[in-house]
Amino acid sequence: MQLNIKDDAWYLSGAAGAGMDDNFELFDLKVEVVATDKPMVCDHPEGSYFRVVGEMLIFPKDRPRIAMYPLAALIPFFPAKQRPTHPHDWMTTDAEIACPDPHCGARFRITRLKTSTFSHAETTLVPLPEHNDD
Ligand SMILES: [Zn+2]
Repeated sequence: MQLNIKDDAWYLSGAAGAGMDDNFELFDLKVEVVATDKPMVCDHPEGSYFRVVGEMLIFPKDRPRIAMYPLAALIPFFPAKQRPTHPHDWMTTDAEIACPDPHCGARFRITRLKTSTFSHAETTLVPLPEHNDD
């Protein structure tokens, strides 16, 4: 997948048909470890973080890892947090996910950053409908 391909002339004139824009935007996310009054048990120090851009998890060079258990708890939230949600939706307002280890005090704060633009044709082989009456 390529990021920010909105300006890719080949794509706009080729895969989606002349003049057809199949772009969509997703929020980039920052997922950061936040401490609470309970001690941390797992190997995820306060302040460590990674970003989610499209389907990619991007880690800083000085901390290129995350334990699989908290990651498994976090992954279901990423697609929802990447997409716009209603202002009253709890998915909009709630940003912290607890570590799944019941003895660990860590939380993972998911923050929406800027949006990145993606192309439908670059992210799936399923074609868009020819006539979209919506
Ligand atoms: Zn933990």
